[in-house]
Amino acid sequence: MSLSKFISANSIRGFLADDEGETLHRLAKEVAAIGPCLEVGSYCGKSTVYLGDACRETNNTLYAVDHHAGSEEHQVGEEYHDPDLYNDREQCFDSFPMFKRSLKLAQLTDWVVPIVSRSDVVVRHWATPLGLVFIDGGHSHEMALADCMSWSRKIAEGGVLAVHDIFPKPEEGGQGPYLALEAVFDAGGFERVAQVNSLGILRKIRDTY
Ligand code: SAH
Ligand code: MG
Repeated sequence: MSLSKFISANSIRGFLADDEGETLHRLAKEVAAIGPCLEVGSYCGKSTVYLGDACRETNNTLYAVDHHAGSEEHQVGEEYHDPDLYNDREQCFDSFPMFKRSLKLAQLTDWVVPIVSRSDVVVRHWATPLGLVFIDGGHSHEMALADCMSWSRKIAEGGVLAVHDIFPKPEEGGQGPYLALEAVFDAGGFERVAQVNSLGILRKIRDTY
């Protein structure tokens, strides 16, 4: 499957493998009747376009949450810094212009609502039950845990939680997202669905709150 009808997979910079993107697209289509989709961590819009494309096909909505100031590893001098994403006028890293460009190229502006803010600020008064939540924001243990615990409460019964960068073995990658997903499972109300590459997936079977 191509990334979208309008844009090719490799034309958007990002951190998502093809099989992970295709899985997000399929899941978003499956849960369309349950509620809208929301992602934390859009960067230049790669995951956004996979999810957004599914929302277009089902006339659903994707809320795309990112402060666009980048994670630690995206800052100037860090391992994943991309000089094209530096905003000269404001003298800071800023992925929002590139993100907007991706949405426009993919013709998704009628199905994706960008929310340029910190995840913990957005979740505070969030009240709409969600069909799918994709977490790919801050990857520290503390941030991944806060995102997974807070947003998992906003998922409707039957809806799914997908978390990126799940590495059960410490030698394969950071443990933050993995431990956060396990904490959601241990808290109850979710069943395990699958793991596709580094994408871990749970489904809410019962609201425990
Ligand atoms: N899903 C993207 C990659 C996301 S990279 C893809 O498919 O390519 C992680 C993103 O999370 C960065 O853009 C960063 O700005 C954002 N981020 C990190 N911490 C955040 C927070 N607390 N709130 C909102 N966004 C955050
Ligand atoms: Mg990631």
